Amino acid sequence: MMSGTHIVVGMSAALLLPPPATASQCVAAVIGGALGGVICDLDAGSGKNDIYNRDAICGRVAAALISVAALLADIASKGAVSTYFSTHINGFRSLIGAAAIAALCLIGRKTAHRTFTHSLLAFALFSFSVFLFCPPLARPFMVGFLSHLSLDILNYKPLLLFYPWKKGFSLKLCYAKSPANTAVFVGGLVTLAAIAVVYAMRFA
Ligand SMILES: [Zn+2]
Repeated sequence: MMSGTHIVVGMSAALLLPPPATASQCVAAVIGGALGGVICDLDAGSGKNDIYNRDAICGRVAAALISVAALLADIASKGAVSTYFSTHINGFRSLIGAAAIAALCLIGRKTAHRTFTHSLLAFALFSFSVFLFCPPLARPFMVGFLSHLSLDILNYKPLLLFYPWKKGFSLKLCYAKSPANTAVFVGGLVTLAAIAVVYAMRFA
């Protein structure tokens, strides 16, 4: 699937599984869902300058902008993420988590598309690293990451889910850029809009 689809589905899933109990948790879900939804495609965006690589780069920029906007909202409201950082920023645990995330991103950039970063091994390593870095982001990040794998496995190009085992898995139902991708993207947007209305009423 394309990056826009991964972002809206990642955020929707993170905002629903399970529904946040506070407005602060909504903000963490937006950040974790957006980043978890696109981080698998770190392995794209270099080499051949085709539409998928450009899409991966645009997706990373969009997820970063969404996360920065959400983080500013979190800071303004003294939410869970900024509160955690303000009290733990000098903590050894957060530094180890940040270093591990950076190392995993570098490894992901070096691997072929839909191999390491689209595996359960990467899911476990990234999730644990995010948990070390900032626990409030861990659950939504995991949901966003799993939503990415769930969408990509619908495509023709297989995922090495059990990397380093080289067996690929694919349901071969659609191509990444296809009417199915557009349908899921629109469905995700509608879901996101409905969630925003419901949560705005609940937490206002
Ligand atoms: Zn992917």
